[in-house]
Amino acid sequence: MSDYIEIDNLIVFANHGVFSEEKTMGQRFMISLKLYADICVAATTDEISHSINYGEVCEFVTDFTKTHRAKLIEKAAQDIAYALLDKYELLKKVEVQLKKPWAPIGLPLDNVLVNIARSKNIVYIGLGSNMGDKKAYLDFAIDEINKHPRCKVLSVSDYILTKPVGDVVQDDFLNACAKIETVLPPDALLAMLNRIEEQAGRERIVHWGPRTLDLDILLYGDEVIDSEKLTIPHKEMAKRAFVLKPLTQIAPYAYHPVKRKYVCELLEELQ
Ligand code: ADP
Ligand code: MG
Repeated sequence: MSDYIEIDNLIVFANHGVFSEEKTMGQRFMISLKLYADICVAATTDEISHSINYGEVCEFVTDFTKTHRAKLIEKAAQDIAYALLDKYELLKKVEVQLKKPWAPIGLPLDNVLVNIARSKNIVYIGLGSNMGDKKAYLDFAIDEINKHPRCKVLSVSDYILTKPVGDVVQDDFLNACAKIETVLPPDALLAMLNRIEEQAGRERIVHWGPRTLDLDILLYGDEVIDSEKLTIPHKEMAKRAFVLKPLTQIAPYAYHPVKRKYVCELLEELQ
């Protein structure tokens, strides 16, 4: 999506900072926003209700910045981004640039600034359990994900019983997939899923061994990531019927950006 509304250098006097003078006396901040939204309808109807009212945004951001203090401008900028994405359904992505021209570092400078982008993303999560009350663990995971303020569960597949793959002798798995919308970036989402696994008593003893709960990020929009901690799309998903079956049930035309195929095609290739 390429349409956006831009607000440049809204000036707000607020109290973000690490030092006590910054907290008590406050200082000048400048906020620039790029609000990515489909404004095609508004451009056609000429109706403000079909767009994002930039006057209202300025008032909201001014008030928010004054009342939500942070030590770091990184955090202050991210808080603004999340608050705007929450408030406006139409808003799909926002870039927040927060400038702190009076940053007290004892040297002359024009500006210090951070620039962050946050967006709403469709993500598919693979769930698995093969210890204890498997259904209860999957239910727990869905519930916890949905309770997170930055995640919304949109749909969940059937839970299917599957045979374990690999050499470890272990109990059958209960597997499922969930479609979620989230504003969390991939690494923050992984950290959140790892916390839910831990709450479910997950212990990493045997790789690919029995587990109370396994939560994997299968697809994150059309992103391709290959870092030390995270591979997206999930490395094994195209080979695993226990992933592709429930995923095809809820999203047959979810697209694998590396294989360049729909998940229903990948499943068909396995059968
Ligand atoms: P597996 O899911 O392959 O059975 P684990 O759940 O023990 O194995 O995950 C091991 C590591 O895999 C995690 O600590 C995580 O950093 C990494 N990982 C890489 N890509 C992903 C992904 N897409 N989703 C979840 N974990 C991932
Ligand atoms: Mg995993």
